[in-house]
Amino acid sequence: MRPRLIVGNWKMFTTAASARRLAADVVRGLGPGSCVGVVLCPPAPYLGVVGEVVRDTAVVLGAQNVYPEKDGAFTGETGINMLLDLGCRYVIVGHSERRHIFGEDDPFINRKTKATLAAGLEVIACIGETLAQRRRGETKTCLEGQLAGALAGLTAEQIRHVVVAYEPVWAIGTGMNATPEQAQEAATEIRKLVQGLVGEGPARDLPILDGGSVNAANAATLMHLPDVDGGLIGHASLEVDQFLSIVRSAA
Ligand code: PEP
Repeated sequence: MRPRLIVGNWKMFTTAASARRLAADVVRGLGPGSCVGVVLCPPAPYLGVVGEVVRDTAVVLGAQNVYPEKDGAFTGETGINMLLDLGCRYVIVGHSERRHIFGEDDPFINRKTKATLAAGLEVIACIGETLAQRRRGETKTCLEGQLAGALAGLTAEQIRHVVVAYEPVWAIGTGMNATPEQAQEAATEIRKLVQGLVGEGPARDLPILDGGSVNAANAATLMHLPDVDGGLIGHASLEVDQFLSIVRSAA
Protein backbone atom coordinates (compact mmCIF):
# COMPACT_ATOMS: atom_id res chain seq x y z
CA MET A 1 0.00 0.00 0.00
CA ARG A 2 1.38 3.40 -0.98
CA PRO A 3 1.07 6.20 1.59
CA ARG A 4 -1.60 8.80 0.93
CA LEU A 5 -0.40 12.37 1.13
CA ILE A 6 -1.88 15.85 0.93
CA VAL A 7 0.61 18.70 0.65
CA GLY A 8 -0.37 22.34 1.17
CA ASN A 9 1.73 24.82 -0.81
CA TRP A 10 1.02 28.24 0.68
CA LYS A 11 3.12 29.93 -2.03
CA MET A 12 3.98 33.57 -1.11
CA PHE A 13 0.87 34.07 1.02
CA THR A 14 0.11 34.50 4.75
CA THR A 15 1.63 36.66 7.46
CA ALA A 16 3.38 35.27 10.53
CA ALA A 17 0.11 35.56 12.47
CA SER A 18 -2.12 34.01 9.80
CA ALA A 19 0.42 31.23 9.13
CA ARG A 20 0.43 30.32 12.82
CA ARG A 21 -3.37 30.37 12.89
CA LEU A 22 -3.79 28.33 9.71
CA ALA A 23 -1.32 25.68 10.89
CA ALA A 24 -3.02 25.47 14.30
CA ASP A 25 -6.44 25.14 12.64
CA VAL A 26 -5.16 22.32 10.42
CA VAL A 27 -3.64 20.49 13.40
CA ARG A 28 -6.86 20.91 15.40
CA GLY A 29 -9.13 19.95 12.52
CA LEU A 30 -7.11 16.89 11.63
CA GLY A 31 -7.10 15.42 15.12
CA PRO A 32 -5.12 12.32 15.98
CA GLY A 33 -4.90 9.21 13.82
CA SER A 34 -5.42 10.54 10.29
CA CYS A 35 -4.62 7.90 7.71
CA VAL A 36 -3.54 10.62 5.28
CA GLY A 37 -0.13 12.24 5.66
CA VAL A 38 -0.40 16.04 5.75
CA VAL A 39 2.51 18.30 4.85
CA LEU A 40 2.37 22.09 5.19
CA CYS A 41 4.78 24.17 3.10
CA PRO A 42 4.65 27.78 4.32
CA PRO A 43 6.79 30.58 2.87
CA ALA A 44 10.43 30.29 4.03
CA PRO A 45 10.24 33.16 6.58
CA TYR A 46 7.42 31.36 8.39
CA LEU A 47 8.91 27.86 8.49
CA GLY A 48 9.96 28.44 12.09
CA VAL A 49 6.53 29.72 13.16
CA VAL A 50 4.69 26.83 11.53
CA GLY A 51 7.35 24.35 12.66
CA GLU A 52 6.61 25.26 16.28
CA VAL A 53 2.88 24.72 15.79
CA VAL A 54 3.20 21.32 14.10
CA ARG A 55 5.98 19.92 16.30
CA ASP A 56 4.88 16.63 17.92
CA THR A 57 1.68 16.52 15.87
CA ALA A 58 0.69 14.41 12.86
CA VAL A 59 1.32 17.36 10.54
CA VAL A 60 4.70 17.54 8.86
CA LEU A 61 6.69 20.61 7.79
CA GLY A 62 7.86 21.05 4.21
CA ALA A 63 9.76 23.74 2.32
CA GLN A 64 8.68 25.25 -0.99
CA ASN A 65 12.25 25.58 -2.19
CA VAL A 66 15.89 25.09 -1.28
CA TYR A 67 19.29 26.17 -2.51
CA PRO A 68 21.28 22.99 -3.16
CA GLU A 69 24.09 23.70 -0.70
CA LYS A 70 24.27 23.15 3.05
CA ASP A 71 25.17 26.82 3.66
CA GLY A 72 27.48 29.42 2.15
CA ALA A 73 27.72 32.79 0.41
CA PHE A 74 24.41 32.62 -1.45
CA THR A 75 22.65 35.86 -0.57
CA GLY A 76 18.92 35.60 -0.24
CA GLU A 77 18.78 31.79 -0.44
CA THR A 78 17.72 29.14 2.08
CA GLY A 79 20.19 26.28 2.49
CA ILE A 80 19.71 22.65 3.39
CA ASN A 81 21.12 23.05 6.92
CA MET A 82 18.54 25.74 7.63
CA LEU A 83 15.68 23.49 6.55
CA LEU A 84 17.03 20.70 8.76
CA ASP A 85 17.40 23.12 11.66
CA LEU A 86 13.77 24.24 11.26
CA GLY A 87 12.47 20.68 11.30
CA CYS A 88 11.51 20.31 7.62
CA ARG A 89 10.93 16.80 6.36
CA TYR A 90 9.95 17.52 2.74
CA VAL A 91 11.18 19.88 0.03
CA ILE A 92 9.28 20.80 -3.12
CA VAL A 93 11.53 20.93 -6.20
CA GLY A 94 10.71 21.71 -9.82
CA HIS A 95 7.50 23.62 -9.15
CA SER A 96 6.30 25.21 -12.38
CA GLU A 97 6.48 28.68 -10.83
CA ARG A 98 10.20 28.07 -10.12
CA ARG A 99 10.70 26.74 -13.66
CA HIS A 100 8.77 29.45 -15.49
CA ILE A 101 9.20 32.57 -13.35
CA PHE A 102 12.72 31.91 -12.03
CA GLY A 103 14.07 30.00 -15.02
CA GLU A 104 15.10 26.87 -13.14
CA ASP A 105 16.15 24.07 -15.48
CA ASP A 106 16.32 20.30 -15.08
CA PRO A 107 20.05 20.14 -14.12
CA PHE A 108 19.50 22.68 -11.32
CA ILE A 109 16.39 20.84 -10.16
CA ASN A 110 18.45 17.64 -10.16
CA ARG A 111 21.06 19.35 -7.92
CA LYS A 112 18.29 20.33 -5.51
CA THR A 113 16.90 16.79 -5.53
CA LYS A 114 20.30 15.27 -4.79
CA ALA A 115 21.18 17.78 -2.07
CA THR A 116 17.79 17.27 -0.39
CA LEU A 117 18.07 13.48 -0.43
CA ALA A 118 21.68 13.58 0.76
CA ALA A 119 20.46 15.47 3.84
CA GLY A 120 17.93 12.74 4.60
CA LEU A 121 14.89 14.79 3.56
CA GLU A 122 12.07 13.70 1.25
CA VAL A 123 11.63 15.28 -2.18
CA ILE A 124 8.37 16.31 -3.83
CA ALA A 125 9.37 16.58 -7.48
CA CYS A 126 6.89 18.52 -9.62
CA ILE A 127 6.50 17.91 -13.32
CA GLY A 128 3.88 18.93 -15.85
CA GLU A 129 3.28 20.11 -19.37
CA THR A 130 2.18 23.52 -20.61
CA LEU A 131 -1.06 23.94 -22.52
CA ALA A 132 0.88 24.39 -25.76
CA GLN A 133 2.75 21.12 -25.17
CA ARG A 134 -0.50 19.28 -24.47
CA ARG A 135 -2.10 20.71 -27.61
CA ARG A 136 0.91 19.63 -29.67
CA GLY A 137 0.65 16.10 -28.24
CA GLU A 138 3.93 16.51 -26.33
CA THR A 139 2.69 15.74 -22.80
CA LYS A 140 4.46 12.38 -22.59
CA THR A 141 7.74 13.77 -23.97
CA CYS A 142 7.59 16.64 -21.50
CA LEU A 143 6.95 14.37 -18.50
CA GLU A 144 9.71 12.03 -19.65
CA GLY A 145 12.25 14.85 -19.97
CA GLN A 146 11.40 16.51 -16.66
CA LEU A 147 11.31 13.22 -14.77
CA ALA A 148 14.60 11.98 -16.22
CA GLY A 149 16.11 15.41 -15.49
CA ALA A 150 14.93 15.64 -11.88
CA LEU A 151 15.84 12.05 -11.04
CA ALA A 152 19.09 11.74 -13.03
CA GLY A 153 21.74 9.69 -11.24
CA LEU A 154 19.51 8.60 -8.35
CA THR A 155 19.58 5.03 -7.10
CA ALA A 156 16.45 2.93 -6.64
CA GLU A 157 16.89 3.35 -2.88
CA GLN A 158 17.00 7.14 -3.19
CA ILE A 159 13.86 7.18 -5.33
CA ARG A 160 12.04 5.60 -2.39
CA HIS A 161 12.37 9.04 -0.78
CA VAL A 162 10.81 10.87 -3.73
CA VAL A 163 7.16 11.76 -4.30
CA VAL A 164 6.24 12.90 -7.81
CA ALA A 165 3.58 15.60 -8.23
CA TYR A 166 1.92 15.77 -11.64
CA GLU A 167 0.94 19.40 -12.07
CA PRO A 168 -0.02 20.48 -15.56
CA VAL A 169 1.06 24.12 -15.87
CA TRP A 170 -2.30 25.05 -17.40
CA ALA A 171 -4.07 23.82 -14.25
CA ILE A 172 -2.04 25.68 -11.64
CA GLY A 173 -3.95 28.59 -10.18
CA THR A 174 -6.36 28.68 -13.13
CA GLY A 175 -9.40 26.87 -11.76
CA MET A 176 -9.01 24.41 -14.67
CA ASN A 177 -8.06 21.10 -13.04
CA ALA A 178 -6.95 18.03 -14.97
CA THR A 179 -9.84 15.65 -15.59
CA PRO A 180 -9.66 12.32 -13.76
CA GLU A 181 -8.81 10.68 -17.11
CA GLN A 182 -5.94 13.10 -17.77
CA ALA A 183 -4.60 12.74 -14.21
CA GLN A 184 -4.75 8.95 -14.30
CA GLU A 185 -3.17 8.80 -17.76
CA ALA A 186 -0.28 11.01 -16.63
CA ALA A 187 0.19 9.05 -13.39
CA THR A 188 0.31 5.74 -15.29
CA GLU A 189 2.87 7.23 -17.62
CA ILE A 190 4.97 8.52 -14.70
CA ARG A 191 4.96 5.08 -13.07
CA LYS A 192 6.01 3.50 -16.36
CA LEU A 193 8.82 6.03 -16.80
CA VAL A 194 10.11 5.47 -13.26
CA GLN A 195 9.99 1.72 -13.87
CA GLY A 196 12.22 2.28 -16.88
CA LEU A 197 14.63 4.33 -14.76
CA VAL A 198 14.94 2.22 -11.61
CA GLY A 199 12.78 -0.89 -11.93
CA GLU A 200 9.39 -2.22 -10.98
CA GLY A 201 9.57 -2.14 -7.15
CA PRO A 202 10.31 1.56 -6.66
CA ALA A 203 7.91 2.45 -9.49
CA ARG A 204 5.07 0.48 -7.90
CA ASP A 205 5.75 2.07 -4.50
CA LEU A 206 6.18 5.65 -5.77
CA PRO A 207 3.57 8.05 -4.35
CA ILE A 208 2.14 10.23 -7.14
CA LEU A 209 0.22 13.39 -6.35
CA ASP A 210 -2.13 15.31 -8.59
CA GLY A 211 -1.99 19.11 -8.48
CA GLY A 212 -3.39 22.14 -10.19
CA SER A 213 -6.64 23.72 -8.99
CA VAL A 214 -7.55 20.78 -6.78
CA ASN A 215 -10.25 21.93 -4.37
CA ALA A 216 -12.93 20.59 -2.05
CA ALA A 217 -15.37 20.17 -4.95
CA ASN A 218 -13.17 18.11 -7.28
CA ALA A 219 -10.91 16.29 -4.80
CA ALA A 220 -13.18 13.30 -4.31
CA THR A 221 -12.81 12.21 -7.94
CA LEU A 222 -9.14 13.16 -8.33
CA MET A 223 -7.82 11.64 -5.10
CA HIS A 224 -9.13 8.13 -5.73
CA LEU A 225 -7.69 7.23 -9.10
CA PRO A 226 -5.75 3.96 -9.28
CA ASP A 227 -2.35 5.66 -9.67
CA VAL A 228 -2.94 8.89 -7.74
CA ASP A 229 -2.05 8.83 -4.05
CA GLY A 230 -2.90 12.35 -2.98
CA GLY A 231 -2.57 15.98 -3.96
CA LEU A 232 -0.38 19.06 -4.01
CA ILE A 233 -2.76 21.85 -3.12
CA GLY A 234 -2.04 25.55 -3.68
CA HIS A 235 -4.78 28.14 -3.19
CA ALA A 236 -7.25 25.74 -1.57
CA SER A 237 -4.69 24.97 1.16
CA LEU A 238 -5.03 28.54 2.42
CA GLU A 239 -8.62 27.92 3.56
CA VAL A 240 -8.71 25.52 6.45
CA ASP A 241 -12.20 24.09 5.80
CA GLN A 242 -11.44 23.46 2.17
CA PHE A 243 -8.03 21.95 2.92
CA LEU A 244 -9.41 19.62 5.59
CA SER A 245 -12.19 18.60 3.25
CA ILE A 246 -9.58 17.63 0.64
CA VAL A 247 -7.69 15.64 3.27
CA ARG A 248 -10.91 13.81 4.18
CA SER A 249 -11.58 13.14 0.49
CA ALA A 250 -8.19 11.45 0.20
CA ALA A 251 -8.78 9.15 3.17
C1 PEP B 1 0.54 24.53 -6.60
O1 PEP B 1 0.95 25.61 -6.19
O2 PEP B 1 1.29 23.55 -6.64
C2 PEP B 1 -0.84 24.43 -7.04
C3 PEP B 1 -1.28 23.28 -7.46
O3 PEP B 1 -1.60 25.57 -7.00
P1 PEP B 1 -3.21 25.65 -7.16
O4 PEP B 1 -3.78 24.54 -6.34
O5 PEP B 1 -3.54 26.99 -6.65
O6 PEP B 1 -3.51 25.46 -8.61
